[in-house]
Amino acid sequence: MDFLPIFIKIQDAPCLVVGGGEVAARKVSLLLQAGARVTVVSPKLGPSLSQLGKEGRIRCRCRAYEAGDLDGQCLVIAATDQQTINRQVSEQAKERCLPINVVDNPALCSFIVPSVIDRSPLQIAVSTGGASPVLARLLRARLETLIPAAYGRLAAIVESFRERVKEAFHSGAQRRAFWESILQGPVAEMVLAGQEQAARRSIEQALECRGVDRGPRGEVYLVGGGPGDPDLLTFRALRLMQQADVVLYDRLVAPAVLELVRRDAERIYVGKERDRHALPQQEINQLLARLAKEGKRVLRLKGGDPFIFGRGGEEIETLAEQGVPFQVVPGITAASGCAAYAGIPLTHRDYSQACIFVTGHLQDGTMNLNWDMLVQPNQTVVFYMGLKGLDTLCVELVAHGMSPDTPIALVEKGTTAAQRLYTGTLRTMSGLLRDRQISAPTLIIVGEVVRLHQELAWFEATEAKEPVPRSSDMIARAGA
Ligand code: SAH
Repeated sequence: MDFLPIFIKIQDAPCLVVGGGEVAARKVSLLLQAGARVTVVSPKLGPSLSQLGKEGRIRCRCRAYEAGDLDGQCLVIAATDQQTINRQVSEQAKERCLPINVVDNPALCSFIVPSVIDRSPLQIAVSTGGASPVLARLLRARLETLIPAAYGRLAAIVESFRERVKEAFHSGAQRRAFWESILQGPVAEMVLAGQEQAARRSIEQALECRGVDRGPRGEVYLVGGGPGDPDLLTFRALRLMQQADVVLYDRLVAPAVLELVRRDAERIYVGKERDRHALPQQEINQLLARLAKEGKRVLRLKGGDPFIFGRGGEEIETLAEQGVPFQVVPGITAASGCAAYAGIPLTHRDYSQACIFVTGHLQDGTMNLNWDMLVQPNQTVVFYMGLKGLDTLCVELVAHGMSPDTPIALVEKGTTAAQRLYTGTLRTMSGLLRDRQISAPTLIIVGEVVRLHQELAWFEATEAKEPVPRSSDMIARAGA
């Protein structure tokens, strides 16, 4: 180990920064965050440091560095662009046993400043011992994505209970066991999901029971898995997918997304093909509650967003009634995903000032939609579950006053390697798609914005079938 990692308390401690440029300013800002009293010495000050000086947040000595500047300081950083000065500061600081950091020159340092993931009071410091600050920064960026932003709040809540837990449990082992059960259970997830009051109540309850086992406490994560491309998952979705004990998924969840669920999690397919449910909705609702009551962390993974045509509301209603803890993680809905990957902006200042999501699911062979609302000008209409009713919807839109020349797009398997886009008009679309093998899921977009895809398409689907020849009315290209 080349360096001893430590965290220094410098609240109200006098610290010196030599240098007046932007690099110095970044170090000053770090010192200020940690509560130091900062003095800067430099003949010239850049705009950031001048501003801090004016605001009285730092003390400035606008002249060249001299050894006397070190008097009374607790810590020194040299950040000038002149190596002779940096070296001089380093030598003189070392003579006085002052901790010294010289920016970008590990040989002259007695301490180095790591890259920090700040979830105060939780802090994670990454260092390569000066070998490659860029590598440290990249690693830091990866850790930032892994460690939920709310970890700091979790640490703060734990801290606020520390004394009481100490009083309640006299042995260190008991205290450790108590905190482990809290931090590995639903309480931690509650904090990360923003349910702090509920988390505090749970800790209170656990304290009252003095760690007496109150039986298993499971929870349910209702997670949006997005439209197909696993890169579109949220950080939170991925984290919960990797800690779940059991996952309930349906047909719409892309295999590439399901791949990312913890390897040893139990997988339960609950179906939901059109008109053919492997498990009736009511049974899915009950199964979620039952598994959680057995103490399991249950992942209910849905395609797209759980609250957009996803019956997510019904599933958590049952959980709420039965007092099972749950949280909901939004996902990228098919409309956003397909539109982006097809190069069709859903709104556009020139063509569309509103966007409507509607289900085209046929009920009793008819489509009971508010057609008058859908045919308004300057808006985009997105039909989910519309393939079976495509002919009907083209006819109805025209019958209710939409121009038959209005562009329409059908996106098949959007955002996946097999994405295909078909475009035409309300008049031509049905004919153009006749006899074509189109597989679910598909999304239909109606509106002038569809035309933009010819310029804006960017995504190339790698596994799409051979492109269909262009016709004047329809363009079908792999990917876009
Ligand atoms: N909750 C989901 C929608 C469920 S309804 C969401 O927010 O996206 C199911 C419908 O979503 C499908 O019939 C289809 O219209 C649409 N859909 C979902 N994923 C899709 C995809 N990758 N490509 C095209 N359409 C998709």
